[in-house]
Amino acid sequence: MELLQLYEEMGLSEAVYRRGEEVLAALEERFRAIDRTAELNQAKVLAAMQKNRVGANHFAATTGYGYDDDGRDRLERVYASVFHTEAALVRPQITCGTHALTVALSANLLPGDELLSPVGLPYDTLQEVIGIRPSPCSLAEYGVTYRQADLTPEGGFDFDAVRRAINDRTKLITIQRSKGYATRPSFTVEQIGELIAFCKSVKPDVICMVDNCYGEFVSNIEPTDVGADMAVGSLIKNPGGGLAPIGGYICGTKACVDRCAYRLSAPGLGQEVGANLGILPAFYQGFFLAPTVTAGALKGAIFAAKLYEGLGFRCVPNGTEVRSDIIQAVELGSEAAMLAFCRGIQAAAPVDSFAAPVPGDMPGYDSQVIMAAGAFVQGSSIELSADGPVRPPYAVYFQGGLTWQHAKFGILMSLQKMADAGLVKL
Ligand SMILES: *Cc1c(COP(=O)(O)O)cnc(C)c1O
Repeated sequence: MELLQLYEEMGLSEAVYRRGEEVLAALEERFRAIDRTAELNQAKVLAAMQKNRVGANHFAATTGYGYDDDGRDRLERVYASVFHTEAALVRPQITCGTHALTVALSANLLPGDELLSPVGLPYDTLQEVIGIRPSPCSLAEYGVTYRQADLTPEGGFDFDAVRRAINDRTKLITIQRSKGYATRPSFTVEQIGELIAFCKSVKPDVICMVDNCYGEFVSNIEPTDVGADMAVGSLIKNPGGGLAPIGGYICGTKACVDRCAYRLSAPGLGQEVGANLGILPAFYQGFFLAPTVTAGALKGAIFAAKLYEGLGFRCVPNGTEVRSDIIQAVELGSEAAMLAFCRGIQAAAPVDSFAAPVPGDMPGYDSQVIMAAGAFVQGSSIELSADGPVRPPYAVYFQGGLTWQHAKFGILMSLQKMADAGLVKL
């Protein structure tokens, strides 16, 4: 077989390949469901582009202040249409997901206000933004306090604790959809809707923001369809479709998004400024591709879960659970296994396949992190990548793949490196 021969030349053994084919045989139905979701989301994006009359003239570069940038403004309306929100802020001036979340939080929280996370500790980088770990310019420094309601031991919402945590000063509730670097489950949009409804029943005027990183286009609906006042994410994850080289988005109510724009640029300027510098073709085209790119990544995640589960590793989510994001955690149990896994992902990359990942310090993270990525866009995690903090339970967080075929090959190569190091027996 020609493919197998090529794979063998690339370092993949027949034994690992066959193991993968066995796992795949049981996934047909699951993959069909993913394709159906992708078709719906593709239609949503297409309809939004048609409704907002996107034209070739909207791809033109602007410079300087960027006044009257119709392409930029129209892209924001396309996002707002897809997320069913009044407004959207989608900008290359938002440097990453953490920045988008920082803008959303600091724009909508004032001194004396309290922020509540009803889903336990937020993502590592957010901890410094909030001031859970002290940092210059944190929300805590500006007099915004923070409260947290932890999840139940089973990973569900602790509604009583949430009710107790909401008080007169609670202004904004931040709900992280994806597990991030934790091994709790990611929440479905329906679950998030229930939590939002509960919070608003306790305090009707509270702002509910969802950290939607890695969740976009995984389901038929988004958090803004179930009551979220803002959904926030990164363009070098799902919605950038692998083509956006930078950027973040905030979709939500006009009141919230207006404030975000004033925080991002300056009071009085808001969304009126911000030149696009020629980046719009990648933003539009990436958003157009995002539903199918996300589908490919989702197939990779499920394939990885099934494969590693079969070898006795704990996978979160497991091979059969409903998905709400593209992240797959695999608890590998040792630093050596994390290294081997990441080496495999790296060796499978189109870029920097010859590099060997090693653990290192990362800004915003309190333990060493190992990362494997051979990406066209630096740090892009909609591209095939694996990373994780080097600390027990030595879980590797695997995500992305611009194509399902590449995701599959990368996962097989991770297993190959584990087998080569004698860490698994096939
Ligand atoms: C990736 C991520 C972020 C931060 O995004 P960056 O682009 O890495 O700054 C925040 N929250 C969650 C859940 C994420 O997955």
